[in-house]
Amino acid sequence: MQFYLDGFYSGDPALARANPEAVERSETLPDEVDVLIIGCGPAGLTLAAQLSAFPEISVAIVDQKDGPLEVGQADGIACRTMEMFHGFGFAEAVMREGYWVNEVCFWKPAPENTAHIHRSSRIEDVEQDLSEFPHIILNQARVHEFYLDVMRKSANRLEPHYGRKLLDLTRDDAAPYPVTAKLEHNGAPETIRAKYVVGCDGARSQTRRALGVTLEGDSANQAWGVMDVLVDTDFPDLHYKCVIHSGKEGNMLIIPREGGYMARFYIEMDKLNPDERVAQRNLTSDHLIAAAKRIFAPHFLDVKQVAWWSVYEIGQRVADRFVDEEADPRIFIAGDACHTHSPKAGQGMNVSMGDAFNLGWKLAACLRGQSAPWLLTTYSAERRAIAQDLIGFDRELAKMFSAPVKGSAEDQGDGVDPAEFQRYFMEHGRYTAGVALRYGPSRLTSEGAHQGLATGQIIGKRFHSAPVIRLGDGRHMQLGHAGKADGRWRVYAFGGAGDLVQGSSPLARLCSYLAQDPASPLLRHRPDGADIDAVIDLRVILQTHHHKLDHRALPALLLPRKGRLGLPDFEKVFCSDLAPEPDIYTRRGIDKAQGCLILVRPDQYVSEVLPLDDHAALAGFFDTVLNEAPA
Ligand code: FAD
Repeated sequence: MQFYLDGFYSGDPALARANPEAVERSETLPDEVDVLIIGCGPAGLTLAAQLSAFPEISVAIVDQKDGPLEVGQADGIACRTMEMFHGFGFAEAVMREGYWVNEVCFWKPAPENTAHIHRSSRIEDVEQDLSEFPHIILNQARVHEFYLDVMRKSANRLEPHYGRKLLDLTRDDAAPYPVTAKLEHNGAPETIRAKYVVGCDGARSQTRRALGVTLEGDSANQAWGVMDVLVDTDFPDLHYKCVIHSGKEGNMLIIPREGGYMARFYIEMDKLNPDERVAQRNLTSDHLIAAAKRIFAPHFLDVKQVAWWSVYEIGQRVADRFVDEEADPRIFIAGDACHTHSPKAGQGMNVSMGDAFNLGWKLAACLRGQSAPWLLTTYSAERRAIAQDLIGFDRELAKMFSAPVKGSAEDQGDGVDPAEFQRYFMEHGRYTAGVALRYGPSRLTSEGAHQGLATGQIIGKRFHSAPVIRLGDGRHMQLGHAGKADGRWRVYAFGGAGDLVQGSSPLARLCSYLAQDPASPLLRHRPDGADIDAVIDLRVILQTHHHKLDHRALPALLLPRKGRLGLPDFEKVFCSDLAPEPDIYTRRGIDKAQGCLILVRPDQYVSEVLPLDDHAALAGFFDTVLNEAPA
């Protein structure tokens, strides 16, 4: 984390200097804003936190509830989401507080007595080197709190406006703030106008209704009970994630919770009849406890306290569009408003936050005049494809999970061998970790003509971090952690063998082009007077030991002078030599002889891989996605 660029100040360095006008605006609901966000769930808060990084963008976030979520709902935080949290600055806090999912235990009917369960196997939850972050379990309310903290510390001191319910939305393109939202506050009507509105208002989204968007897929006919409990038991794996298939008492998931004592039980309840709602079953936490006790046999289960419980219906459904107008969107929906699915793969919160992270930087780029509005059309195209994949995966997983055990009394030819379920679960580990997600070719994602230069940094997938040493201070760190949630593009320039940015080496030529050539994207897209890395952040990786190089011998571009005081930034260059450990080139398949350029979006996805000397292609890419900065 860098701070004091514009001078020293005492106190919390993460607390940005307040923008007094915006702070005043955040205390009462303004009449007009750039972005209005409906809903303070994971999607809405991710978006609000992202937009709070830009003091010049006015944002209001409203929720019908009277205050923040306090308990319950989702809890799984995938490795990929942790990478995103790092960009927002709170991954370490989540790691400190959360439960780390290390291994998964599978339980099935014991062969000698199918009325009893026994542990059939145990697997690693996350394969080695999939991410630098673990898979974490933490209460959704705590995740909300971390985002709220980011928002509060931003220059605009962004705070939600609670107790406001969205009733309707209208659009008038002739108006400077084209979208009008009608809200209800304390029983009275309220109106707010916005350039863009994002409905992050959950599965029963009013925004979706106002757009006339329909959900496609299976309706909710599977009821799931979930409870966070403090228990006494002789079941040995309470502190491991467990998938339990019992002989005839149903199936269950155990998710150990943060703090070392609590666990979450997901218990499959009976299938609902068509048109039946879960409320009609009058289920209580006692029903869930009784079901869990039956599944646990022969182990005893004494539930001492139920901290939270809920029963909810699941259907795999996805919205037919995520925006009001595909070609010129002004109103968006994100998160559960667009897709609903089971909790079994722990994707609800993760995919919802992923939607918002995808949209946030695009809205910021358009509102700040950095990119043209076409950028916003990529949101629906990219995220709808992801949601459809998720629905397909969840449908398959849910079917296998709910099927009776093969060969059991309930098996009517549709039984699944728990070993087969385990295989499916393992095969899809990358998917559930969130790292398999890949955006298809578009103006933001190239076809990959030069993918061979970096075979482990797949175009369309997230930038896969690996360890390096920062030249400026010898810090061992993850290269991907240069990627903060600050709306900037990143260019990682990996030097070829022996290239120490001297003479006419490819890296030296690249630096001189980027620093001086009128076609340089760093110069062309930088607003007048802004730091050289304000829009595109260049980072260089060298194949050498950090003791063998003097930072000051490198081109001035790699020690750029920035801010009000013109201070040099020492964090632009990294060295790969970690011997005897494999280096980032080896780990990520980067061509050691030639090196390469990797272009990474503000949401940490790889857009393009290019040869180091293809300056024209580099400039061409940014000419497509960024506007020329006004002189
Ligand atoms: P949400 O978290 O649903 O947030 C939507 C927000 O919008 C809410 O704060 C709501 O008050 C607000 N809102 C709604 N309508 C309006 C309106 N008209 N005006 C203003 N504000 C509005 N997932 C799991 O993986 N495991 C679980 O055990 C689990 N349990 C759940 C239990 C419940 C009761 C619910 C509702 C969801 C549960 N989920 C669970 C799903 C998970 O919480 C979601 O996938 C995730 O929260 C989606 O985030 P979101 O931001 O899209 O929507």
